Amino acid sequence: MMEKKNPASVSRRRFLQGLTVSGLAVGAGGLAGPAARAKAGTGGKARNILFFVSDGMNIGTLQMAAAFRGLTGGKPLAWLGLYEERSPGFTRAIMDTASADSPVTDSAAAGSAWGCGSRVNNRSLNVDPAGRALEPILVKAKRAGRKTGLVSTARVTHATPASFAANADHRDEENTIAEQYLEREIDLLIGGGNKHFDPAQREDGRDLYAAYRDAGYNVVRHRDMLAKAAATGAPLLAVFSGDHLPYEIDRLHTAELRARVPSLATMTTRAIGSLAQSADGFVLQVEGARVDHAAHANDFAGTIHDQLAFDDAVRAGLEFAAGRDDTLVIVTTDHGTGGAQLNGRGPAYSNTGDHFRKVLHYRESYHSFLLGLPLEIPPQLLHKRLNDLLGFEVSEEFTGPLAERLTTERTRTGSHGSGAWTLGSGLRLPLLRETGVGWTSHAHTADYVELAAVGPGAGAASPFIRNDELHHVMTAALGIPA
Ligand SMILES: [Zn+2]
Repeated sequence: MMEKKNPASVSRRRFLQGLTVSGLAVGAGGLAGPAARAKAGTGGKARNILFFVSDGMNIGTLQMAAAFRGLTGGKPLAWLGLYEERSPGFTRAIMDTASADSPVTDSAAAGSAWGCGSRVNNRSLNVDPAGRALEPILVKAKRAGRKTGLVSTARVTHATPASFAANADHRDEENTIAEQYLEREIDLLIGGGNKHFDPAQREDGRDLYAAYRDAGYNVVRHRDMLAKAAATGAPLLAVFSGDHLPYEIDRLHTAELRARVPSLATMTTRAIGSLAQSADGFVLQVEGARVDHAAHANDFAGTIHDQLAFDDAVRAGLEFAAGRDDTLVIVTTDHGTGGAQLNGRGPAYSNTGDHFRKVLHYRESYHSFLLGLPLEIPPQLLHKRLNDLLGFEVSEEFTGPLAERLTTERTRTGSHGSGAWTLGSGLRLPLLRETGVGWTSHAHTADYVELAAVGPGAGAASPFIRNDELHHVMTAALGIPA
């Protein structure tokens, strides 16, 4: 059961106080606070919200993605372009990402803070520490007539997309979350996660694909079918893999994956094309989910290529929003993961660029690399394959013990795909020495994160913002009750 949210929550009061203070500052000293910028620029109600989240993006990841783009001669990052343009109503903020029970959040609590406007404990989805279910933003938006959508490179039932639409005591209740999306009539779902819809794989044997079809959804399982289904504007469920979608670097280098799975930018464009047919606007969350997964493994190539794919999706969103005054675009991350950053190399750090350039050699993720190795990995084989992967020599002093640790782990799990975290920590020192790329752990981190907002209502985001306050920025922009 959905209980009524307490309207006088602490975060709501803080939010309103923040607005009042900004307003006073403008009146007294003529300073252009965020609220004033929103008024002077594109103030007013947002018809649409495009919410972009790169899951687990340390600021170092953003910097290295920009540097990587620079090395490959591609377009500068769309995210950073927002900062350079400084469009009317543009706000840049740093965000405090803590959860109710920890300075270091998980994705469920971080997303829920945005989703329902209150901090919850790690692992919870829009259920507060007292056990009350709080209404998530897509349910509120739906009631106000907006269409709603979720696009993710993870299982579409995973924590971050679920945080905008579902309630669960524990994020792992993904079979239930798949049912809630249908009950709550979320109009568009694109991502991975077949196992939570397929009757052969669900414990209860329920055929959720059939249930969605019966409710009028187009169900799509291959990229060839996406454009046509999205163009109809009808409700859409698109599931492109059994589990998460592949890492972008593997998708780019594998013809079969490219043929079957669209890029995040393509999924975003199709989602907008479908939802924008609504006369009453829409709210869409787009998640670059696997930045986090790769960063957990300290896998540079996995992290950066997914960050770049995310940025391409942001670009697609900004192209839609450009030239119209009715779309609030928010670009952010829920927390850092792994502590990624580029460290100075050489005398006075002057060799840093040459060291970093070595990362251009990568052609696959650590996960894909491990899939190509036997469960028991001979040290000589690991040595050779790693040198091929990295493009620089890793001494046997590292590869010998690493082969042993990987073999122990892989024979225990019996999975060729296991060992990515072990590989990442085994390579941490050689990678730092050779490329300057450093990681601090396999965990989420507490550092403040970047947030960019542009469009109607963006100015209500204060430059230092708590994650739960962002919910109220969105509901205020939409003109719906928080
Ligand atoms: Zn996350």
